[in-house]
Amino acid sequence: MDIKNGELWFVTGSQHLYGDETLKQVAAHSKNIADELNRATEIPVSVIHQPTVTTPDEIYKVCEEANRNKNCVGIIAWMHTFSPAKMWIGGLKILKKPLLHFHTQFNRDIPWSEIDMDFMNLNQSAHGDREFGFIMTRMRLNRKVVVGHWKDLQVRSQIGTWSRAALGWHDWQGAKFVRFGDNMRSVAVTEGDKVEAEIKFGYSVNTHGIGDLVKFINDVPENQINQLCAEYQDKYKLDDSLRKGNSRYASLRDAAKIECGLEHFLQAGSFKGFTDTFEDLHGLVQLPGIAAQRLMNKGYGFGAEGDWKTSALVRAMKVMAVGLPGGNSFMEDYTYHFAPENEMVLGSHMLEICESIAENTPSCEIHPLGIGGKADPVRLVFNVAGGPALNASIIDMGNRFRLLLNQVHAVSPPHDLPKLPVARVLWRPYPDMKIGCAAWILAGGAHHTCYSQNLTVEHLQDFAEMAGIECISIEKNSHLNQIKNELRWNEIYYR
Ligand code: MN
Repeated sequence: MDIKNGELWFVTGSQHLYGDETLKQVAAHSKNIADELNRATEIPVSVIHQPTVTTPDEIYKVCEEANRNKNCVGIIAWMHTFSPAKMWIGGLKILKKPLLHFHTQFNRDIPWSEIDMDFMNLNQSAHGDREFGFIMTRMRLNRKVVVGHWKDLQVRSQIGTWSRAALGWHDWQGAKFVRFGDNMRSVAVTEGDKVEAEIKFGYSVNTHGIGDLVKFINDVPENQINQLCAEYQDKYKLDDSLRKGNSRYASLRDAAKIECGLEHFLQAGSFKGFTDTFEDLHGLVQLPGIAAQRLMNKGYGFGAEGDWKTSALVRAMKVMAVGLPGGNSFMEDYTYHFAPENEMVLGSHMLEICESIAENTPSCEIHPLGIGGKADPVRLVFNVAGGPALNASIIDMGNRFRLLLNQVHAVSPPHDLPKLPVARVLWRPYPDMKIGCAAWILAGGAHHTCYSQNLTVEHLQDFAEMAGIECISIEKNSHLNQIKNELRWNEIYYR
């Protein structure tokens, strides 16, 4: 994915009150800022300067064009002078793309010895942007407000963060996710309203019988299976038994065949992610293990046990993080270490952890799986490096979706885990184990999450605002009472 193809349109508002000379300066300054933001390495998308808008018609037109443009992921709006905001109502009413209100000023410093009324009339964003802010607040529109000089690195990185959220949001619009089989029987949190999700999030989730996938798997040509087995051997520490000529080589071929067939299916249907369930594997030799791990690494969303909400979230977070060091993976809070002063969560899954978060070269192994009743699945086994990370989960509250975040700190495993045949990660939740887990559980957070090494709370808060959904964040400075109150108050807000 070439994210530089994504465009942020830099739109400057003004009016005709000040004469042509001022408007010329406004246009030149705004071009200067847009070009500089376009070159900024903190902003991964292209920033495209647009002509200054000075009338309701011009404003409406640029919003209409932004809606229609396939590459435009959002608009940056700035009022260099004063742009009476009733002019913006028509355009803002129809604007479908996310909006960032950039509260900046062309001049960084006040030119103390030279400042006169001409300067004041040109550099009016301190009040021009307040007029613009009012109309958006009056219209109850979600937007990001970034404050500061346009050369400020923190300002640029905030714009970059928001633009990544906008990329993820853009990617969801019209996206297709496929479910093989339904939800794991009787599980609650992985269920949800797919109709509401399509209305709210713009992506569709539809099912295919596992037999449809089996057809693709059976059609995989021999040479592709050979090639993929060779790739496994080159790329991973391949278990001896799985090597060509050895006892389990046929199982490796089965796994490779599943991966190829699954990828062909996703490509043929232009799907951006999938779910499966171990309760519905008719015609599959193994539960897809290495296939899910590697397809996630290629950017596909994945959710186990029919968890389409997490599959879609994994996909969005992968798009948001394109080009950043570190990875994003489907994850599950699996088991705990309750040693005093050293409490930790061990995150893992039966098989399906994305190799993008692996610390070292994964080993490719085969082991029995206690559930599913199928042949032993091939999987990648690895540890995950220590460092800052977060878990994100979307749940369906019945009348709304809630995005739940928890900052965590990953810890390198203090011991070998010689008998644990799955990829795993250890972390300490913030603010601490007791408060972090209690808050997560009170907020109804799922056991499935997307674990991210490279996205921050701000990325996901920006994303939630674009989606117009609730966002609860459990962070370093969170208190349990504050979270409890937030949950109670949000019940009223969203009623
Ligand atoms: Mn699970």
